Amino acid sequence: MNDSYLNFVNSPLGARVARSLGLPKPEVLRRYRADAPEFDGIVAVGAGPAPQLLDALADVVAHIGMTSVAHVSAGLWVPLANRHGLMTGRFEPADPATGSQARVRALVFDASGIESSAQLESLYTFFHDALRSLDKCGRIVVLGRPPEACANPRQWTAQRALEGVTRSLGKEARRGIAANLIYVSPGAESGIESTLRFFLSPRSAYVSGQVVRIGAAPGGIAQHFGQDFDWTQPLAGQRAVVTGAARGIGAAIANVLAAQGAHVIGIDIPSATDALDATLRQLGGTALALDIAAPETPAQIAAALDELGVDVFVHNAGITKDKTIAKMTEAAWRSVIDINLSAQERIDDALLEAGTLRDGGRIVCVSSISGIAGNMGQTNYAASKAGVIGRVQGMAPYLAARRITINAVAPGFIETQMTAKMPLALREAGRRMNSMSQGGQPADVAQTIAWLAHPGSAGVTGQVVRVCGQSLIGA
Ligand code: NAD
Repeated sequence: MNDSYLNFVNSPLGARVARSLGLPKPEVLRRYRADAPEFDGIVAVGAGPAPQLLDALADVVAHIGMTSVAHVSAGLWVPLANRHGLMTGRFEPADPATGSQARVRALVFDASGIESSAQLESLYTFFHDALRSLDKCGRIVVLGRPPEACANPRQWTAQRALEGVTRSLGKEARRGIAANLIYVSPGAESGIESTLRFFLSPRSAYVSGQVVRIGAAPGGIAQHFGQDFDWTQPLAGQRAVVTGAARGIGAAIANVLAAQGAHVIGIDIPSATDALDATLRQLGGTALALDIAAPETPAQIAAALDELGVDVFVHNAGITKDKTIAKMTEAAWRSVIDINLSAQERIDDALLEAGTLRDGGRIVCVSSISGIAGNMGQTNYAASKAGVIGRVQGMAPYLAARRITINAVAPGFIETQMTAKMPLALREAGRRMNSMSQGGQPADVAQTIAWLAHPGSAGVTGQVVRVCGQSLIGA
């Protein structure tokens, strides 16, 4: 749907009006486009004491072809030379007084060696100097160690504090800048590439204020990604199922997974057959007209996928039937829980039991920030979406033995037919109450799902990633 306020304040006249009235000016977000370079410009790297992730970071920066520069200031020094010889030069923060133009696309800070609260000051030093040099729609990534893996309470405390810094940076930076924290478990360093790429890329335009953990993947990761690996087609040769694929977010997911090389099998209710066929035809995919909540559907899906199996299953289909609980009918409660939650359980049980979902596969479920925060008139919907989060967290350990990951994305306000139906005041509130001051696009959710579906994301499981522009709701 069209956001006319965003369009207006980004026109020459609108920008003048917004400036003179002091109105917020949401940035036109830089999103991924196949015809524009995904990575370019400078990554400025800072680090606290004894950083442990600089080599892994340098590997990724080398791979994606960005230029990295080290940040040097008050006792903080990042080695300029490493085995790739890539960290050359010295980063000088932009200085408004002298008109220095050292603009950078991303600020990455390696906080993995921070062991005490006093050492957090190194983050202050870096971001105090460097933040003003970050381009609009730039990226902030902080790398740390999972607090729960720390050796002692002081280290745990300091690593946990990184969340506060990162989330606040997301709120302060504005200008379409996204800030996220990645906790890398000891031993998982070789598994950071798909995640770091995503958070440095325009693909993560509407993902901010998130904390992601990368664990050591059973079976390892690095060996799959030699020089020949095509990062533009990571799902080549794979089959992916998307439920609710006829329109909205589901159609966008089908599009993005197909663009990354997957053969997509789209499922939607029989009454949406025309739209489903149209979506899948243009992707060279397969349409399956099925109601996911029907008792016979899990077996029908397993049969349709036959011996070829499936690598990626995206549970996207969902409905709302909003009413306060006193006014809600039993049927409205039941159908929302059944379609949004129980159907996912029945389908996964059938596919896992039959071995249709291949070992090393990916399950991604669509939750909602309503499932995190709760929402007036949505006891049924919020229960179903919170249940999805529980399902992901509860199943991850069981699926690890088969190297299958399961994760959830929790969209905030996304511009779809679902949100176009909201009353104007609620819709405007949903759009503006986040760090990006605007709604997200279906493609923002789809790109996040594609990152989780990536073969390189084997160390990311049991997690919930919000695609909400750092919404204040449930923050
Ligand atoms: P949408 O209503 O535009 O699309 C949902 C699709 O699911 C439709 O094509 C519909 O026919 C299909 N579907 C519904 N019931 C089905 C069933 N029983 N079997 C098969 N298909 C079925 O909604 P959307 O905005 O694209 O939302 C997609 C998902 O994202 C949903 O799970 C929704 O709860 C979630 N979500 C959306 C937003 C948002 O802002 N739009 C925010 C948070 C979460």
